[in-house]
Amino acid sequence: MPSSGPLQLDAVIFGGGGAGLWLLDELKAAGYSVLLVETAELGKGQTIASQGIIHGGLKYTLSGFLTPSVAAISEMPGRWRASLAGERTPSLSKTRLRSEFCYLWQTSSLMSKLGMVGARAGLKITPKKLQPHERPAILRDCPGIVARLDEQVIDTASFITDLSTQHRSHILKVSQSDGIEFKYSEPGNITLIKLVNSNTQQELDIKPKRVIFTAGSGNEELRKLAGLQSESMQLRPLHMVMLSGDMPQLNGHCVDGAATRVTITTAEDSNNNKIWQIGGQLAESGVALDEQALINHAKEELLSVIPNLDLTNTKWATYKCQRAEATTAGKRPEDVCINKEGNVITAWPTKLALAPRLSEQIVSMLEDPMELDCEYLSQVKDWPKPITALPPWETVTRWFTEI
Ligand SMILES: Cc1cc2nc3c(=O)[nH]c(=O)nc-3n(C[C@H](O)[C@H](O)[C@H](O)COP(=O)(O)OP(=O)(O)OC[C@H]3O[C@@H](n4cnc5c(N)ncnc54)[C@H](O)[C@@H]3O)c2cc1C
Repeated sequence: MPSSGPLQLDAVIFGGGGAGLWLLDELKAAGYSVLLVETAELGKGQTIASQGIIHGGLKYTLSGFLTPSVAAISEMPGRWRASLAGERTPSLSKTRLRSEFCYLWQTSSLMSKLGMVGARAGLKITPKKLQPHERPAILRDCPGIVARLDEQVIDTASFITDLSTQHRSHILKVSQSDGIEFKYSEPGNITLIKLVNSNTQQELDIKPKRVIFTAGSGNEELRKLAGLQSESMQLRPLHMVMLSGDMPQLNGHCVDGAATRVTITTAEDSNNNKIWQIGGQLAESGVALDEQALINHAKEELLSVIPNLDLTNTKWATYKCQRAEATTAGKRPEDVCINKEGNVITAWPTKLALAPRLSEQIVSMLEDPMELDCEYLSQVKDWPKPITALPPWETVTRWFTEI
């Protein structure tokens, strides 16, 4: 049964990954009336699959090109650090940190180049070369230089849960297939949103000033629903590797020239087993391989970049995922991407680390908030709430022990 007239809201966000949840926090704090709509589990797609490194731009300068976006991303670690310490909004004091820093190491000796590039680009965080006695045991026998980079690594599931718990009353779960309908006066000018409560079949009509898509790869479908052309997004696949066993904690990149040969981050599963999530070049080239071939390749790569790695009693798995970004003329965007068409904003952060910058830019594009009607939450208090997506090591169906 329809409710009594459409709800008037400043903004409706579609997609509760890292980008949408950060934006929800910012919009609420700035006094906007806003709801976030999620069709699956929060963070499903990229945020939950990501390695959670809060990049400061070094990765972008490895090739020696110094672009304006490097300056933008170099602000991000400080911005996140303040939130993670609970010193500014959004407060992320319940988000678990996997590490305060990453290691950078090389199989050959190119460190001097790395350091110089970082300094030249005006990065806020540059690698600091470690003396042999400062190296972690696992990297002690690496032939090249080992450095420390003060980029934090977060547990992305706890980040999603932290933010969504704070804003639970503003988040609605809607079923993907038939739960969302847009009425528009012309493509990209949404006059009415119709949502269906999957529990009660009750309909909610919303008259939004702004509609913001932060649904990652789901942006394409939403844009179609809003009558917009859908050539604005590219998907870049990754085939990631997971290693489970008694390995030590390790977070960082093995750098080979301009490429990150492997990026390793360490998580824990629900049984307190260590999980190494392994990305970088390995995951890019792994797209062409089946899981067994990729695991074989990963084993060789790991033993070659970490000479004293012990792989006894380990098990292996892989997962595939897509990075969803705005289409760009070059290979990949380096900064956030925001399209504004009519009253619809489509946004991709490009990196989780850039979520604060994305929010800031979107807020600056909005008109002042309407007179706040606090009553709007009472109309959605009985709606289903989405849960946080499970990380890949909890959902993978097959682990390989013998390879
Ligand atoms: C393997 C991997 C590793 C990465 N590592 C890093 C890293 O270390 N550091 C870093 O900064 N970045 C990293 N990234 C990039 C980063 O994960 C993404 O840029 C970022 O998480 C994107 O966030 P998002 O909220 O835009 O999208 P997503 O996290 O994909 O969230 C989209 C949300 O929208 C929902 N949704 C989908 N369709 C709809 C719909 N129709 N209506 C409503 N909701 C919908 C989804 O269920 C999901 O909750 C990595 C990416 C990958 C794939």
